[in-house]
Amino acid sequence: MTGQTPQELTGRAGWITVEGARTNNLRSVSVRVPKHRITVFTGVSGSGKSSLAFGTIAAEAQRLVADSYPLFVRNRLRRIGRADVDRVDGLMFTTVVDQRPFTGNARSTVGTATDIAPLLRMLFSRIGAPSAGYSPAYSFNDPSGMCPACEGLGTVDDIDLDALLDRTKSLNEGAIRFSTFRPGTYRWKRMVHSGLVDPDVPLSQLPEADLHTLLHAEDLPLEHPDPQYPKSSNFDGVIPRLRDSYLRRTPSHLTEDIKEGLARIVTRRVCPECGGARLNAAARSSLIDGRSIADWQEMPIGELRPVVSRVHDARVTPLVEAIGERCAAMDAVGLGYLSLDRLSTTLSGGEAQRVKIVRHLGSALSDVCYVFDEPSAGLHPHDVHRLLALLARLRDAHNTVLVVEHHPAVIAAADHVVDLGPGAGTAGGRIQFQGPPRALARSTTMTGRMLRDPVRLNTRPRPPTGRVTIEHARMHNLRDVTVDVPLGVLTAVSGVAGSGKSSLMADELVRQHTEFALIGQEPLHGGGRSTPATVMGVAEPVRDAFAAATGMAPSWFSANGRGGCQACRGRGVVTTDLAFLDDVVTTCEACGGSRFNPTALAATLDGQTIADVLAMNAGRAAELMASDARISGRLGWLEDVGLGYLAIGQGADTLSGGERQRLLLARHLADTPAASRLRIVLDEPTAGLHGADIDRLLVLFDRLVDEGATIIAIEHNLRVIAHADHVIDIGPGAGHEGGTVVHEGPPADLTTAARSLTGRYLRRTLP
Ligand code: ADP
Ligand code: ADP
Ligand code: ZN
Ligand code: ZN
Repeated sequence: MTGQTPQELTGRAGWITVEGARTNNLRSVSVRVPKHRITVFTGVSGSGKSSLAFGTIAAEAQRLVADSYPLFVRNRLRRIGRADVDRVDGLMFTTVVDQRPFTGNARSTVGTATDIAPLLRMLFSRIGAPSAGYSPAYSFNDPSGMCPACEGLGTVDDIDLDALLDRTKSLNEGAIRFSTFRPGTYRWKRMVHSGLVDPDVPLSQLPEADLHTLLHAEDLPLEHPDPQYPKSSNFDGVIPRLRDSYLRRTPSHLTEDIKEGLARIVTRRVCPECGGARLNAAARSSLIDGRSIADWQEMPIGELRPVVSRVHDARVTPLVEAIGERCAAMDAVGLGYLSLDRLSTTLSGGEAQRVKIVRHLGSALSDVCYVFDEPSAGLHPHDVHRLLALLARLRDAHNTVLVVEHHPAVIAAADHVVDLGPGAGTAGGRIQFQGPPRALARSTTMTGRMLRDPVRLNTRPRPPTGRVTIEHARMHNLRDVTVDVPLGVLTAVSGVAGSGKSSLMADELVRQHTEFALIGQEPLHGGGRSTPATVMGVAEPVRDAFAAATGMAPSWFSANGRGGCQACRGRGVVTTDLAFLDDVVTTCEACGGSRFNPTALAATLDGQTIADVLAMNAGRAAELMASDARISGRLGWLEDVGLGYLAIGQGADTLSGGERQRLLLARHLADTPAASRLRIVLDEPTAGLHGADIDRLLVLFDRLVDEGATIIAIEHNLRVIAHADHVIDIGPGAGHEGGTVVHEGPPADLTTAARSLTGRYLRRTLP
């Protein structure tokens, strides 16, 4: 396959064929995927869907394309490991559209991420009156357009002198409360040796003018410069120093220590010059139909659409159409409540993926293969149907669409389905079914049974054991919501994306009632070094068990300690630096990827090495460690939350958001002494879960609630909503059109609630 040109890669063959795929748990599978169609990969969690779609097909396609590009392009592509597969034919240019949130800086907005912002700038530069110039003059990222006062950030930071200074102290006593000005530091010496003030006199007793100079001087020539630093004889006061060193940079360049210090002394306010619009006066005063580009960008996209469509000017018809189309696409993926000036770093993983979809829809490519990772995540059933229309549009523009999904509506809308299983991990990795969704719904696979299994309505909800009240919640779009949250039951919080579910539960409830714990999907501390074993706190007891059995020190059983392979320093892989070529990452030959050195691997517990144990899933590891109730008890929770298929030593950076959340749930459960003390809020706990796994999770929730726990799940899944004891439905719409409680009560009542979209969809799925 290597050596093919991009033209050959996008050849006319009708299928992508995979032969002998063995990535992760795949059992040498062979499969055909039709081109220019929508194919859904499904199966229980851990069955190998991602290993096939992302780890094999997308990885091979991206590697081939990367090989055919010039080096400077290759260096920009994300580094991709080689898939373990005999042969893949019929590949084409492939783009992975995943749920990784946008990282980056304060200058990336929904407008820039969707590429709508440059179109708006072009439009204003052509017909805005008076015109500010050409299009960079409307960009807050460009010196010709940005507000000079805030440099295009929309906010200005002030240093709060009362927080910074302890006026009862002298410089020598540490009057400047910031780490880089502490007595003994370089900056402190500069102040003391400046001769501007007496370093032994408390600030409050210094002459006002001298203190002012010490704080605010800029580039002041000193009369008696410090002989130690003759070159820097000019003096900057404390405030200009802090401002230049820290306030002009994006926070990612700062150490934790500095960030904490700044958080204490800096107050942020809307820029007084531009009022947060980020643009200079010329750009702000250029109008179309009475509105500036800043006005356009702060409107919810759904409201911006009619404003754009009112522009009738033959010179800009194609631009107006392009903007209208993308705004319509944002609406169609359920993101019409966002404004273009919303910071992209504040979007959830699901929102980020849908923004990426819109960006791809806008670029008029065809014959591209798009691979999606559960695009229904975070979407209400109502929005899922609109998403499906967009996927169909991508396909009809002559693209190949691959989707890893469990959602019944997404499966039903596919042209072709590949079902993996039957189980997870070593019990999965085989193709159970490939064909049209109608045939899958008649099959005996887990997915076939799930599709036939009706949603069951909980008609006997448990009575609450008490209640707490969220009072006057006004976060984000919430409209002064006061609502009771029942205790001792399972509550589902439903509503379309952007209606205010997270603002109400993840923010307001947890803030007002601190006994509630929020379990989200954010990355774990420690990145690649953390594993299910370390997160669950069993790594250390496992090392102790090995030490007790062998008489060796525990650190021999740590890949980061004495037991680590020297060749790869316990990483299991080696990175070869080829100077001007890409680095190459390969499995470490010395340890075969096991991460341990021969001495550690010679030691065994019941015939197993430490590497063997870390490669086991929770169930097998618990069996081996059965004599230690602490270890086996904690590992048991991993199985209960549906993570029994993970290797306990698998790097946490390979886990999906949903898997991370269930891992944190397992830890929280293991750490909570009694279920009756458990009060948790989960943000879409079914993300990434197959119907069969969802039923297992509900069994766990029921057991905990019966033991006295209070569980609140922000959910779209109708199985979970129908199963709950109590539903709080937020809406009716998103953004401005949401933010109220539409309905509260048992799920049976919801089906008759006239204003509830959730109720309408629930009614439709009931048998
Ligand atoms: P699915 O997408 O169906 O949930 P995956 O393809 O992610 O399943 O996982 C299949 C199996 O491969 C699981 O047992 C999982 O633990 C394992 N696996 C997945 N990714 C990795 C990885 N990066 N390293 C080691 N094992 C992995
Ligand atoms: P849901 O959880 O129902 O999807 P959210 O509570 O996340 O809804 O959002 C409700 C509203 O608040 C939306 O209009 C959303 O755009 C807005 N919002 C959410 N988070 C932020 C944020 N960090 N900054 C500004 N607006 C936000
Ligand atoms: Zn400004
Ligand atoms: Zn090694």
